[in-house]
Order: sequence, then structure tokens, then C-alpha cells
Amino acid sequence: MTRETAAPEPGRDFIRDIIDRDIAAGRNSEVVTRFPPEPNGYLHIGHAKAICLNFGVAQEYGGRCHLRFDDTNPVKEEQEYIDAIKRDVRWLGFDWGTHLHYASDYFERLYDWAEHLINAGRAYVDDLPAEEMRMMRGTLTEPGRNSPYRDRSIAENLDLFRRMREGEFPNGARVLRAKIDMAAGNINLRDPVLYRILHAEHPRTGAKWCIYPTYDFAHGQSDAIEGVSHSLCTLEFEDHRPLYDWLIENLPVPSRPRQYEFARLNLNFTVLSKRFLTQLVSQGRVSGWDDPRMPTLAALRRRGVPPAAIRDFVRSVGVARANSTVDIAMFEHAIREALNRIAQRRMAVLRPLRILIDNYPPGVSEELEAVNNPEDPACGRRRIPFGRELYIEQDDFIEDPPKGFYRLSPGREVRLRYGYFVTCRDAVKNAAGEITDLICTYDPATRGGNAPDGRKVRATLHWVSAAHAARAEIRLYDPLFNRPDPGAAGDFFADLNPNSLDVLTESRLEPALADAVVGEAVQFERQGYFCADLDSAPNHLVFNRTVGLRDSWAKARGGAG
Ligand code: ATP
Ligand code: MG
Repeated sequence: MTRETAAPEPGRDFIRDIIDRDIAAGRNSEVVTRFPPEPNGYLHIGHAKAICLNFGVAQEYGGRCHLRFDDTNPVKEEQEYIDAIKRDVRWLGFDWGTHLHYASDYFERLYDWAEHLINAGRAYVDDLPAEEMRMMRGTLTEPGRNSPYRDRSIAENLDLFRRMREGEFPNGARVLRAKIDMAAGNINLRDPVLYRILHAEHPRTGAKWCIYPTYDFAHGQSDAIEGVSHSLCTLEFEDHRPLYDWLIENLPVPSRPRQYEFARLNLNFTVLSKRFLTQLVSQGRVSGWDDPRMPTLAALRRRGVPPAAIRDFVRSVGVARANSTVDIAMFEHAIREALNRIAQRRMAVLRPLRILIDNYPPGVSEELEAVNNPEDPACGRRRIPFGRELYIEQDDFIEDPPKGFYRLSPGREVRLRYGYFVTCRDAVKNAAGEITDLICTYDPATRGGNAPDGRKVRATLHWVSAAHAARAEIRLYDPLFNRPDPGAAGDFFADLNPNSLDVLTESRLEPALADAVVGEAVQFERQGYFCADLDSAPNHLVFNRTVGLRDSWAKARGGAG
């Protein structure tokens, strides 16, 4: 596993160096970038890298960044995705201002430019069936062969192309191709397809069009129309750059953008292919695009990850030209760092074990003071009820403790956070021999957590008052995949972790958590960071574990990571 080499200094990278040089050379008066998603799925953490780069660069250079939907394939695109993408970019903290654009806004102009190429003898209508066209494309080592339709007259090409637009032909009957060079070393230059027939309703243009430009034909021209100066994309488009430049050179475009490629973000234990993520959703393997186990921004938001953590993470990864895989632990580290600053502390018992304080008067309770956030005194204090019956965590008690276990066991004294010293006197068991309750005593002189005689205890436990606690469902998430390189053995689905979701239904929370705001981060002391899920209702609290307090991946990563 390699990590991307960090930029020389934080926030510096080869893209910014290029822009500096362009500005110094007087090539650009303004830096204009764009983030160009295809609305065929939700944005994921990989897109966050492209968003932070494009919007970040524009901000730093006082330019602008457009949000442009590359909506050239109506078969897979939906309004739901357009809405989700806008929501997620905004949530991540970026603003496209008035520059919300769609490739479909340019369909008319792109069409005119296609005719321009035909008139210049640089494009032709091809009737070859797709399969034959593929065979004639050649390979990396063999040149392609010219289509028998390649030398049609300009007039015939124009006529056919117009009739394609009029809807005269069925899907797949004909395409418009650029006339470049079937022997080009770069396969993308072997007469690439510019337009295809698709009788499909488009989310924005409806039934107006039945021919649609390909990504290659739409992308660079859209950039040029918008005056994009630096068209930043991922490395898989490097081989498309000569075509991008060819089109820009051969068309009367209003500006000349330049394309630069950077490495995609890859994370171990994670799949960032939209195709695969779509399958997870459509096959019901997850509850939806925002299932908190998904790597989508919608899921991360629902899970409680603050946008600042994503921006910090992306910055720490940097922008490089070499592909690599980033350790998910690095992302979790950024999440903890961000949450530690903002999350208020609360007590919650995930797997409750009831304890009875035998010498505490029945029917009485008192209030103890607790600190809301030791990182931020301005968050103040709160009061938490204490009484005779409490819950502690099941795994904070062992009847026959091994060496090194300092928490509760028969005869052992521990501190209850913000409260008293308690000593376990007895464990009550049911007929099956399972421990149901602990009988304890407390020392009234230790209120606030210290003994006047100076005696020490070795453990401090969190707890909640049974009479006051709110019951909650808590959802614990584990990696969606059980190997660091999902799909490496050939099948993504085979690598899905069947235990990626663990639902606890008997958890007990201190009363203040009953009013938790959906999505707002809290730290459950000793447990991790959590937030109320949007499934939460007043009579049914649901919390997500955003991330544990420590690196939980160390074990899963094992030697393989
Ligand atoms: P697919 O998964 O179907 O290949 P995509 O992830 O490339 O699609 P787009 O909507 O085309 O989806 O992506 C929009 C932009 O985000 C593109 O410029 C793309 O290069 C960039 N992008 C996508 N995935 C990543 C990634 N993992 N890291 C960095 N940038 C990415
Ligand atoms: Mg893409």
C-alpha cells in the first residue's frame, strides 16, 4: 500500500504550479475551473477530491468554478442525481454562484459545430453496426481500418446527420464520427464517435433530441463555451487529451481551455465506482445512496462526518500524478480531529448491565455536574441525574478478571464518571447462569470523583441512571468490505462484509441526548463519535456511530494492508 506523496507544502501541487506559470506567462487573466459530474449517481469521497481541487484553485486565484452537469447520456441520468449533487457540493462548502451549467444547454451549439466539422470534411456519418466498428478500430499494436462510409460526400453526410436529428433512424443505426486517422497510435483518434442516436427522454431537454453528443464531443467544447482556463480531470482522460485538443483546434470555439490530469483518489476497503455503487443500491445490499456505510457524501453526512473533515482529508492527501491508494485510517483520523473540536461529550451505555447501589436511598435521585467539552470551555456544563439504579457497559465488568483488567469485578472499587466510587459486592445471575444485575455499594464521601482519604481507583466508567435514561437504537458500522482491495479476486460482491452493520436496540442514553439534533456530532464518552440518525423520532431514538475513538482498522487491515 502506498500513500500519495504529500505536496511539497500543504496546499501546493503540480496543478497550482502550472497555474502559477500560466499566470506569470500572461496566458490567463482569470482562472476558471469547473466540476463536471455526470448526473448518473451520487457524489462520493473521490469526487470530493475533484471538487476541493477545482473550487479550491478558483478561490485561491480569485477566479471562479462552475458546476457543470455532463448530461449527455439520458439513459442513465436522473433529476434526483442532479438535486443530490447540488446539495452535496454545497454541503461540502462550495458555491458556484451563478455558474450552474449543463452540457445540455449547449446541445444546439454542439450540433452546429458537428455540422461545421462535416462541412470542413472532418466528420462523417457511419452506418457500420457497433460490433463491426469496434472490430475495425484495431488494437494497441494494430492500426484500424477505414469504414466503407468514410468517404461520403459532405452533402450526403449533412443530409444523413440532419435526418438523424429528425428521428428518422432507430437507435444504433448510424453515428457521426470525426474523420481523423484510423492508423493513429492513440486509439481515441481513430475516428471517434461524436454523436449517437438515442431515442430517450432527457431530464432537461425532454423529447427534443434523439441524437446526443458523446462525452468526448461535449466536454471540451462545453469548457470552451464557458471560458474554462484549466480543465482538470483524472488520469484516465490523459489519452483523450489529443482528441480534446483536436476538436478545440478544428472548431470556431470562443476560448481555448487546456486539460490537465491528476490521480484519482482511491481508498482501501472502499469501492468508488459509480457503477458498482449503483448496483449496491439497486440490489438492496444497502438501504440507499445515503446508507452510512456507503462512501457517498450523502452517506458521510448522514453518518455524522463534518464537511471540514473531508476537506482536511483531501488536503492532506494532496494532488499528484501517480495513482495510489490511501489508507482509510487516514480519513478516520481527519474525522476524529474535526469532531474532537466540535463534539459535546455525553454518556451513553451501548450494551447495558444494570447495577444496584445497595446503600443509596430508594426513590431518591440527585444531579451531578458534567463538562460538555474539555476542548472548549465555552460549551459549559450540564447536570446529569444519579440514582440507586444505574446502567454500565457489559464489558466493563468481568466476574473473574484477567490480569491487567482494572474495571469492575466482585470486590473491586471503581470511579463512576462525574460521580462516586462504587464497589461491586455481588453478581446476580438468572437460571441460565447469565449475569443480570450487579449489587454495589457507593462511598458518599467520594462525590465528584475523589476520595478524601486519598485512596485511588484504577478505572473510571461511564454510566447512566436507569430511571432517567432514554432508550435508543444504535447502529455500529464496520467496513463494507472485508478486504482492503475489494474486487481484487474478481468479484466485488464476494468481498462484501456480511457484518458491516450491527444494530443495538437496548442502549441507554443520558437524558440530554433525547433532544439531540439529527446529524449533530456528539462524543459518547469512551465509545466514539455519534450522531442522531434521520430515522430518529421522539419515541424512537436512533444513533449512528460516526467513528470510534481509536483506529479500529488496525485489526481488519492485518498484514494485508
Ligand atoms: P464513473 O465512476 O462512472 O467512472 P466518475 O466517477 O468519473 O464516473 P463523473 O461524474 O464523471 O463520475 O465525475 C465527475 C468528476 O469527478 C470527473 O472530473 C472525475 O474525473 C472526478 N472524479 C471521479 N472520481 C474521482 C476520484 N476517485 N478521485 C478524484 N476525482 C474523481
Ligand atoms: Mg466520468
